[in-house]
Formats: sequence, C-alpha cells, structure tokens
Amino acid sequence: MRLILLGPPGAGKGTQAQRLVEKHGIVQLSTGDMLRAAVKAETPVGLRAKDIMARGELVPDDVVVGIIEERIAQPDARKGFILDGFPRTVAQAEALEKLLAKKGLKLDAVIELEVDDDILLKRIENRVAEMKARGEAVRADDNAESLKKRLDAYHAQTAPLSHYYRKKGLHKATDGMASIDEVTAAIGNLLKPAVPRKKAPPRKRAARAAPGRRPAGRKPASRSGAGRAASKTAQKSAKKARSGLKKAVKVRPKKAVSKARSAKSAKAAGARHKAVKSRNSTRNRASKARSGRDRRLTKRR
Ligand code: ADP
Repeated sequence: MRLILLGPPGAGKGTQAQRLVEKHGIVQLSTGDMLRAAVKAETPVGLRAKDIMARGELVPDDVVVGIIEERIAQPDARKGFILDGFPRTVAQAEALEKLLAKKGLKLDAVIELEVDDDILLKRIENRVAEMKARGEAVRADDNAESLKKRLDAYHAQTAPLSHYYRKKGLHKATDGMASIDEVTAAIGNLLKPAVPRKKAPPRKRAARAAPGRRPAGRKPASRSGAGRAASKTAQKSAKKARSGLKKAVKVRPKKAVSKARSAKSAKAAGARHKAVKSRNSTRNRASKARSGRDRRLTKRR
C-alpha cells in the first residue's frame, strides 16, 4: 500500500502514520524527520536545509525530491510506504508521480487530516510544553514566529494538493480534530476496499421472443462466433438448394424440348419417308408403263 498523509503542521500526521505502519507493515517516510537527521549529521543536504527549516520555510523541491527518490529505492519500501510531509507543493507531487511511474508504481490514496488553524496553534503549544517537561530538545521551528510561517506556507503551497489529488480520484479526507482513536478508525474505513455490489440473479430467458425482437441480453447470432459459423452453414445450404433448383428447372424443359423435337423429327421423317415412297412408286409406275410400252412396240415390230 502506498499512501500520502496530507495536513497542516500539528494535524497529527506523524501519530497516524505510526499506527498505519503497525497495521499494514509498511514504512513511514517523513521528509521532516529525514531533513532533521541530515541537519544533525551535518550532511551537505542538512547544511543547506538547516536555516530554511528554522525559519519555517520550505526546503527547495529538488532537495526533498532527491531524498525521497533515494528512500523509496530502499528494500524496506518495496512492500509499501506512507509519505508524511511529502509532497508539499504541486511540483513535488508531479515529481513523485514521475518517479513512481518509472518504477511501475501507483499511489493507493491521499488522506487529508482537516484541522482548524486555532486548534493547530494550541496543539503545538501543548507539544512544546510537554517536550520541555520531559527535558527533550525543542524543535528549532516550534516557536510562534516560525509556526505562523509554516501555516502560511501550508495554505499557499500545500493546500492546493487537495484539489490536485481530488482530480486524480485519490483524495480522501477526515476530521483531524476528532480523538486520535477516532481518526485512526476513520482512516481505516477510508482505506477499506469498496464493497462490490451484489450481483443480480441471472435473468430468465424469454420462452418465445416477440417477432422481430431478440430476447434481452442476447447478442444477435451473426455477431457471435457460433452465430457466424451457423450463418455460413445456412448460406452454403441455401446455395446448394439454389443450384438444385436451377438444375431441376433446366432439366425439365430440356427433356420436354427433346421429346418434342424427336416427335417433330419423327413426323418429318415419316413425311419424308412417305414422299420418297410415293415418289418411288410413281417412278416404278412410270418405268413399268415404259417397259410395257416397249414390249408392245417390239411385238408390233
Ligand atoms: P510540520 O509538519 O510540523 O510542519 P515537518 O516535520 O513535516 O513539520 O517539517 C519540518 C520542516 O521541514 C518544514 O517546515 C520544512 O522546512 C521542511 N520540510 C519537510 N518536508 C518538506 C517538504 N516536502 N518540502 C519542503 N520542505 C520540507
């Protein structure tokens, strides 16, 4: 799980982050803690950030983005992380998005703790008093002047992130003025996966579809694979039937015509035969007559 805790100084981000670490077994990445550690260790980053932090101003974006990039690459952050105090500007949010995208990672949620300014001032005064009572070193920026600057910086540079993450559909908010346990419970609810809606029971298929209508929820057969195959088979058989019909239509007149033709030719042949016969008989008669006349003439001679 990868989360961002958003909220003004004193909103309780650190306290809630600790609880989320225990619950989800992920790491808390607080840029404030990392920068304070760098200041203490007097690293180049620490030396650069020291005075800026003491004044209650924001450390340059490239410095904090560099710190976060290194930290996210550590093996303990692989399972997930809670970002506390980062991003604090839109430019930092964009840089974070890019470096997560490079790793193929995405944020799961951005949780904002909403607290009124006057309550914040009281909380920080209490924190300072408690630390002093325990004999602990008080933060260099936990004084009235720096605190005012930190709040101003929050409203001017960090508050626009609510809108930025709302547009991305990641933003969730809860009342940070409730008790610590109530806020923990509210965050728990915000992180619960959305309960999937109960599936409606499958609709009964209409026994008989109205003419010209297909039953609701069914694709027309021609769109599905099976439908396409079925329609191909239907096309083939229709083609077959058409060619059979053609044959039948062609064959019948052919036979009829040939019969008619043969009848005609038989008639004609008969007529021809008769004509030949009668011609022959005339010829025979003539030759007979001729031979009779010849015989008579010879007798006379
Ligand atoms: P708080 O939330 O109480 O203001 P933090 O511990 O988060 O305190 O931060 C302390 C200081 O560290 C800030 O006032 C600022 O100077 C510096 N800092 C921490 N995180 C960032 C950041 N993301 N960008 C710029 N400066 C930061």
